[in-house]
Amino acid sequence: MREKAIQIIEKLTAAGYTALLAGGCVRDMLLGREAKDFDVATSATPEQVVRLFPGSKTVGAHFGVVVVRAGDHGFVEVATFRSDGSYSDGRRPDSVTFSTPEMDAERRDFTVNGLFYDPLAKKVIDHVGGEKDLQMGLLRAIGVAAQRFEEDRLRLMRAVRFATVLGFDIEHATWESVCGLADKISSVSIERIRDEFVKIMLHENRVRGFDLLVNSGLMQHILPEILALQGCEQPPQFHPEGDVFIHTRLMLSLLPTEASLPLVMSVLLHDIAKPATQTRDTDTGRIRFNGHDKLGAEMTGEIMRRMKFPNDVIEPAVVAVEHHMTFMEVQRMRTATLKRFMSRPSFDDELALHRVDCLGSNGKLDNYEFVLAKREEFSKAPLVPPRLINGGDLIKLGWHAGPALGRLLNAIQTLQLEGALTSKDEALAWVKEKAPVADEFEEAETSEN
Ligand code: ATP
Ligand code: MG
Repeated sequence: MREKAIQIIEKLTAAGYTALLAGGCVRDMLLGREAKDFDVATSATPEQVVRLFPGSKTVGAHFGVVVVRAGDHGFVEVATFRSDGSYSDGRRPDSVTFSTPEMDAERRDFTVNGLFYDPLAKKVIDHVGGEKDLQMGLLRAIGVAAQRFEEDRLRLMRAVRFATVLGFDIEHATWESVCGLADKISSVSIERIRDEFVKIMLHENRVRGFDLLVNSGLMQHILPEILALQGCEQPPQFHPEGDVFIHTRLMLSLLPTEASLPLVMSVLLHDIAKPATQTRDTDTGRIRFNGHDKLGAEMTGEIMRRMKFPNDVIEPAVVAVEHHMTFMEVQRMRTATLKRFMSRPSFDDELALHRVDCLGSNGKLDNYEFVLAKREEFSKAPLVPPRLINGGDLIKLGWHAGPALGRLLNAIQTLQLEGALTSKDEALAWVKEKAPVADEFEEAETSEN
């Protein structure tokens, strides 16, 4: 992709235009990181770009952006140097005018994002002091910080995101402006806020991002429920680390570098219902949070729907919150119950959640280690293999579809999971002996203890 961008620059230069690599890719290149995409900035107008690269699409003609195909997959954005007009919606300029490289650098958000690179002369072109800030590891707004955040409020989230993923400090005036204007983030669409939030939370420096969001005041507008965890006391014998907020933050810091989005969200939200369910026993004063897992699952669903997460992220996060206390019971579960618990698709993330839940509190990993040992023990065969007999087999024996048939199938599967029944013949023989009267089966005998 870099090669393709350079070819485009060569062609534009040969046609007499100025053309440079711009923005994030220059920053990443100078940091020795892999860039996500290579953007080109040029003095050619969109029409002139399209004339040189027939078949290109003018996506944001209004913003002077042309998307040039780069091979079979991928594309390079070629944007005309521009200046942004006034901002009246707090997000996008009302108009843009084509301008010079200097002015194009000045309309960008942070100095480290305002660099150009001339790949033909192999030279960095810096109109905003970005190279020095890159070396110092400093995120600094270009121009007057407060004004730049005021005109486009999404930059408030971008400041936290870049500080997090680059591991940079935020320059004083820039940070003061983020804090002072944090309330204005509510005028940005939740989808855009969420996209930045996700980038922050998926990065290994997520705790730093979490702190910046909380300390700036942005969290108050994204996930105010997190702030309600502050000062929510817990029983010290289970939670020597402190209140629910401290516990949640500590867990975030203990996640592996690569953590799925449902896992990170379940860490943030697993105890979200503790403030609402907290009680104290009248005699001993012991603190309890009865039902915080069930209510927490409901709240997790509500919060994540509010943030417009897709269902395939919401569902596993809700399931993980709902079941996070079930791990306390694994050593008492009958084998079939444990196998069913472990075979659910979100189990790996749930186990990772449980691990940091323990490490972020009393440090006792006995249930976690028990599950690991069981996983090893069960590893020779599928946790939940295909059923020995199905509903059709029972219907042939005179059963009717219905709850009794479901209970019988469940009972047979339980015995199968525990190794008591190993073949279809054994299962059929068991049915004839234990449940000879069609449509009458009480599960009592095999019910879970
Ligand atoms: P990423 O690694 O996420 O792609 P990036 O720096 O390339 O980071 P983009 O959102 O792809 O960020 O934007 C490309 C460039 O456009 C930025 O480097 C910056 O110069 C400029 N830019 C993007 N969004 C804004 C904004 N909201 N305000 C000002 N400049 C912006
Ligand atoms: Mg980019």
